[in-house]
Amino acid sequence: AAPLVVAVSTSIAAKNGLLIRNRVGFEYARNLNAIVFDKTGTLTKGEFGVTNIVPSGEYTKDEVLQFAAAIEQNSEHPIATGVVNSAKERGLKLKQVTNFESIAGKGIQGQVESVKINVVSPGYVNDQNLSYDTDHFNELSEEGKTVVFVLMEDQLIGMVALADIVRETAKEAIAVLKEQGIHPIMLTGDNKKVADWVAKQVGIDEVYAEVLPDDKANQIKKIKDKGWKVAMTGDGVNDAPALATANLGIAIGAGTDVAMETADVILVKSNPHDVVTLIDLSKKTYRKMI
Ligand code: ADP
Ligand code: MG
Repeated sequence: AAPLVVAVSTSIAAKNGLLIRNRVGFEYARNLNAIVFDKTGTLTKGEFGVTNIVPSGEYTKDEVLQFAAAIEQNSEHPIATGVVNSAKERGLKLKQVTNFESIAGKGIQGQVESVKINVVSPGYVNDQNLSYDTDHFNELSEEGKTVVFVLMEDQLIGMVALADIVRETAKEAIAVLKEQGIHPIMLTGDNKKVADWVAKQVGIDEVYAEVLPDDKANQIKKIKDKGWKVAMTGDGVNDAPALATANLGIAIGAGTDVAMETADVILVKSNPHDVVTLIDLSKKTYRKMI
């Protein structure tokens, strides 16, 4: 049976917005000296709005957005929600899509009226050796905007830039963690410039960007191998392997079911600052027992 003090703390934890799924993980939290954060949906709200559409072919801004949104209707990624909402706000009608597929960590594809459309990452476009306006791309990325590329039959028809909102509580959490000697790290699938921009906003100095889902777990393993006692904090399907690999997995409550099912602790209020609360409670609880 669980010691009484632990049972009591689990309910105190619940009152503080923490759902403890694994008590061993809760106990471990007091030992942490590094915390890895996913970017999109964790340090940021994951609520994207389209800020720029840059056509590079014969199609207009609305047409580029319309093609992208048609395919994105089938995706649950926060980028997809941003693209679809923005198309709807512009009153664009979204066509039917067939043969939808997602390309893990890189984007999506499908067919609109038997024409192949992709909405993909800069990494994908670089791998395909497609040329684009790199100056404009860099300018948007340096403003912290996530840029995706719209391809038709493997040819670029435009870029779509989206902005997310940094969680104010993330910035506060990082400051407190640093004061406590806990090292914060960012691990994201998004591109390096956007990652650096967000990292700067919240005060993180160690950043791993353009990391594919399986490599997120490998990266956590490397951090562990360096001797860190590390927690992973994330929200996405792509974070699940990393959540499972870390010494402690922490999921954002507003995140995907897969992330929550994999985590030891869920931040019910989706507030990254509750990581601090978790560590405090773990220390208080297990100090009493000794
Ligand atoms: P993150 O760690 O930011 O959640 P993901 O691994 O989910 O990253 O995605 C990595 C990159 O792949 C995104 O930044 C984007 O460029 C691209 N991508 C993923 N899903 C989509 C989508 N539905 N539409 C467009 N691009 C996508
Ligand atoms: Mg995420």
